[in-house]
Amino acid sequence: MTVEPDLGEESAPHFGSFDGRFIGVTLNLSPASEAAFGLTAADNVSKFEEAAFATVLSHEVRHFHDFLISPRGSVVLRRRISEAINCLSLLVHARRLAAAKAINALPVPLGRWAAMDAAARDEYLKPLIQLVGPLALPDIPFLPQAGRLTARPSNLPEQSDATGFTSAATASLLCRAGLHHALWEADDWPISSQDVREGIAFTIQRQEAWSAFGEEAYAVLTDRVASHSPSYLRAYDLWVFLARDLGTDLACGAMTWANMGAYFEGEESSPAARFSKLCIAVKRLGGLPSMAPSDWVAVFDLLINAEDTAAAVDTQLQEDKIFLTSLMKKRDDNGGYPLLGEMVKLFSQFVDAKQKIVANFLNDPASYLCPLPYLESVDRLPTPPIRLITTPGNAVDVGPLNKAALSVQHGWTNAEGDIVATELLLLRASDIDPHCAGVLSDFFRISDILMDEGVRDLDEGALRSLREVFPSVRLLNVID
Ligand SMILES: [Zn+2]
Repeated sequence: MTVEPDLGEESAPHFGSFDGRFIGVTLNLSPASEAAFGLTAADNVSKFEEAAFATVLSHEVRHFHDFLISPRGSVVLRRRISEAINCLSLLVHARRLAAAKAINALPVPLGRWAAMDAAARDEYLKPLIQLVGPLALPDIPFLPQAGRLTARPSNLPEQSDATGFTSAATASLLCRAGLHHALWEADDWPISSQDVREGIAFTIQRQEAWSAFGEEAYAVLTDRVASHSPSYLRAYDLWVFLARDLGTDLACGAMTWANMGAYFEGEESSPAARFSKLCIAVKRLGGLPSMAPSDWVAVFDLLINAEDTAAAVDTQLQEDKIFLTSLMKKRDDNGGYPLLGEMVKLFSQFVDAKQKIVANFLNDPASYLCPLPYLESVDRLPTPPIRLITTPGNAVDVGPLNKAALSVQHGWTNAEGDIVATELLLLRASDIDPHCAGVLSDFFRISDILMDEGVRDLDEGALRSLREVFPSVRLLNVID
């Protein structure tokens, strides 16, 4: 099918995103996405929407695969889970303290509160106390450099309420510092790590447009992106500028290699640094000799004197297995917390999926590094869970939706008595269970709010969950 170049230019919606909290693919609800999954009739979907949606799906699926295969993706997920365990413990202890009337307020985000000394905290509380009366807060340590601390393995804290809360809060803050390390972006390179990841996904998307919809669709997509989303082309342009045009396969291979580097604390392991250094090295060489894709990874490592990338991918897989064993032990030692069971389930599926993608990559590197072989073999790779989201103002009526195909992750009954939803999970076979990914995504969101986002970022669903945990506790939104 060919797409008319002038279709949808103004009305083309933003179709999808990769949200690191949801281990899968996030798509926006639109006539195109609903029709693609057989939820509504396809009559009113324009050709442009259909093509854009189909290619966006391949873009988002590639983000999922890149997260799955990269050592950094494993580190991020492990740290998120460790933090969530400590946040869960923190909430349990806070609720006990509230039930015993030892506290009536909790400052959030904790990261900001922890960085305030006693005088700053007093100054913050004084006008509030005048307004609402006495406030009793739990004991939260003063950690002025919270963002720069190195993460350490976390354990569920002791059972005693007072020390329990404080040690859970401290452990959560240390986990958040570790997460910041893993997500930290160096800014002294010509591109960002995000540019590298978008460069890979967009190269795959363009290939899909070309293969499935033809030259015009490819041209429309490239033009639109050039004018709207420069991040998609920045890494690719740097490669063309410094490394000359060595072809799309090598460009995609180089970006993919950059994203799969060994993780260590420090900017040198970031995809931005790896990719920029490789571009400079290739420029110095004046190009690259002709070689098979199976040799690229080792040659790129050599060119920038990096650690063995293929070995690093496998090492993280082994680390994941060790983490899974400790997670299972935590679940068994702390019966009664369903969330721990969900974490074990999700992480165990993550490890299986990772094993699958790593084995596939080691067996046939070209089928992951080069766009066309990747798209041709994508069915052999792990299938992500998919969720459809929309804004509260555009909540969809659940009535007409196919309930065998979708389940409501976030929804409520509106004034007319209809159930409407902002978040739906697609019920189809996937390597990671959609419900599990949804539950964990909600809890990661609560961790983000508790640790460094603040109550003002709470959406309806998260606010309701927190209110259920703390019916009698005031959440103090600490603002800079
Ligand atoms: Zn993207």
